[in-house]
Amino acid sequence: MQQYADNFIPVIPDTNICHTKEHPFCGDPTCLCYGDKDNIAAINDAINDGIITPDDATRIMKGKTV
Ligand SMILES: [Zn+2]
Repeated sequence: MQQYADNFIPVIPDTNICHTKEHPFCGDPTCLCYGDKDNIAAINDAINDGIITPDDATRIMKGKTV
């Protein structure tokens, strides 16, 4: 008897491009990356330096590319 088989949710392989310099956020708001001060500081620095716009930052924090 495998009582867990029917509703077992397989772990989805982490194949998304995330947690990199260009893509610090993975799109999962519950992930630790959203609480990472370095990530947030990097985004703020990029805005201040004019590398990205606040809109870009929003997109990045949603896990999308600029
Ligand atoms: Zn993440």
